[in-house]
Amino acid sequence: MMMMTSTTGIGSRRRSSSIRTPGKSSFCRTICTHLSSSSSSTIARGGRRSRRSNNSKSHHNHHHQFFHHSQPRQQHRHRKLRNDKIRASSSTSPDNDVDEDDDVKNVVIIGSGPAGYTAAIYTGRANLAPVCFEGFQSGGVAGGQLMSTTEVENYPGFPEGVTGPELMERMRQQALRWGAELYEEDVVSVDFSKRPFEIKSEDRTMRANAIILATGATAKRLRIPSEEKFWSKGISACAICDGASPAFAQKELAVVGGGDSACEEAIYLTKYASKVHLLVRGEEMRASKAMRDRVLDSSDVIVHYNTSVEDAAGNAQGFLESLKLVNTKTNESIPEPLKVAGMFYGIGHTPNTKFLDSQLGTDADGFIIVSDHDKTSNSVEGVFSAGDVHDKEWRQAITAAGSGCQAAISTERYLQMNKLLKEVKMMDTKDAKEEIEAAKKKEAEAPKKKTHEPAIDADNFDIDRQKHQGQYALRKLYHESPRPLVVMYTSPTCGPCKRLKPMLSTVLDEYEKSIHYVEIDIAKDPEIAESAGIMGTPCVQVFKDKARVAVINGVKMKSEYRKILSEQLIESSAA
Ligand SMILES: Cc1cc2nc3c(=O)[nH]c(=O)nc-3n(C[C@H](O)[C@H](O)[C@H](O)COP(=O)(O)OP(=O)(O)OC[C@H]3O[C@@H](n4cnc5c(N)ncnc54)[C@H](O)[C@@H]3O)c2cc1C
Repeated sequence: MMMMTSTTGIGSRRRSSSIRTPGKSSFCRTICTHLSSSSSSTIARGGRRSRRSNNSKSHHNHHHQFFHHSQPRQQHRHRKLRNDKIRASSSTSPDNDVDEDDDVKNVVIIGSGPAGYTAAIYTGRANLAPVCFEGFQSGGVAGGQLMSTTEVENYPGFPEGVTGPELMERMRQQALRWGAELYEEDVVSVDFSKRPFEIKSEDRTMRANAIILATGATAKRLRIPSEEKFWSKGISACAICDGASPAFAQKELAVVGGGDSACEEAIYLTKYASKVHLLVRGEEMRASKAMRDRVLDSSDVIVHYNTSVEDAAGNAQGFLESLKLVNTKTNESIPEPLKVAGMFYGIGHTPNTKFLDSQLGTDADGFIIVSDHDKTSNSVEGVFSAGDVHDKEWRQAITAAGSGCQAAISTERYLQMNKLLKEVKMMDTKDAKEEIEAAKKKEAEAPKKKTHEPAIDADNFDIDRQKHQGQYALRKLYHESPRPLVVMYTSPTCGPCKRLKPMLSTVLDEYEKSIHYVEIDIAKDPEIAESAGIMGTPCVQVFKDKARVAVINGVKMKSEYRKILSEQLIESSAA
């Protein structure tokens, strides 16, 4: 996901911590011009027109060339099943010397990529009632690395392929089905010196007799001198999330790296870019032969071997414009800068082990060292690991899932052998199925009641509704709503967007009558995204009295959205 701070905006009347609201932009013009046309159609159809919309006429200086044609879109939301309902009884083996304290869990799983969810499925199936901290921010979004990929073609069981987010959603549902208790939170610390172990997130502390670490790995950056300056203003670590941004359309782009990830990113970007430069440090690409061939067969990808990036330079608006390259063989700078609007890192990953605070044996790169005999246990008894957090070599969804299974079985054996296993029986299959069906039905009905029905045009736009979709609604609300307006920019391939939507929706429910919301799919409404300066998704912008007062990039804690919305409402009532 690209974390960007736009410099375009509509007059900076207000500011908050995460706000950028510099001068007038094309966004205002885009919004205004459309409304000037669309509002007349509203009147012609007998629609309402507020004083605001009349006032807004003063902004209408341009005729726009794009009328909305937003399509109704199925809103996808999911909710946790009530696992406590699924469980019918809790029992301990008669000879078990079990900790009397009921709050001690059998196992806490940290991480929710293929490794974490598989461990949750297996331990759930074994009646261990697993708790899983899915992660949130510090090591990537819940669902893990596959949330930022499009097609997964090699995961068994999906002959037609499956998108990364869909695969992860299916694993999640399967974990829920077997009674896993999921928390979309980062674990901030663990204490392995205590028995039971203590696990802390920002919201809760838990105790468990066993832990499975499945925290995966995070994309590496080059750390060139001006990286921070252009981060999210052209530099990104996720082509799949950010590649569709209008700022990159038909521009030359660069991808750094020579492995599978870099090759996949380069191929993906050819959909949008005029040309993609793949910058490979070595003499050849490290990628698998299949990936290498795809790159070499593409006339839109130019491979630069023995090339590294020294630094970057930007344009007057502060966005990336060119890269200063170095020849890694001679160590000499390449005189001609490479003109690109975007640079995407595909240079590997750092294991997410920092929060362990060196309590476990790791190698120099931070990867957990596992024992040879079971490949999941390590220097602390009762702690197991799975997936990319210890795997430097295979790093695939299927190997991560396989190791999640190994860790789960090792955990069960460990608990059993140490007489710590507290069995929590599931209902019989029929009852469990009924519970799940009921929960699914409820879940399917929920969006109809709560979330954004698309407002397509003047015929079905209803300003009394809180949540909307598409550019028509945006324009109407921007001009006519007296409430603060939350705009969320998403893209179809953005996994983090799928995480943010239901979360933000829950926050917005708390402000049902006082805040308006509209979702813009940047692939459907690229002009809007461009005029709003969107270079990555998800991006949430908040407007008040036509001034942009906040920009929140990526997925943040609910409390951050609440804070900004509450601030706006307090200001409104004080005014
Ligand atoms: C762009 C891209 C494309 C890929 N395509 C494929 C493909 O087509 N096929 C394939 O087999 N593999 C593919 N892979 C590789 C695959 O995604 C990984 O090997 C796999 O996801 C590793 O799974 P994991 O469960 O070990 O870790 P991850 O998927 O990295 O998941 C780690 C989880 O831990 C969580 N976490 C981290 N820190 C904490 C914390 N402190 N507290 C709580 N939770 C935390 C994260 O939020 C995340 O949910 C791809 C990878 C990338 C980057």
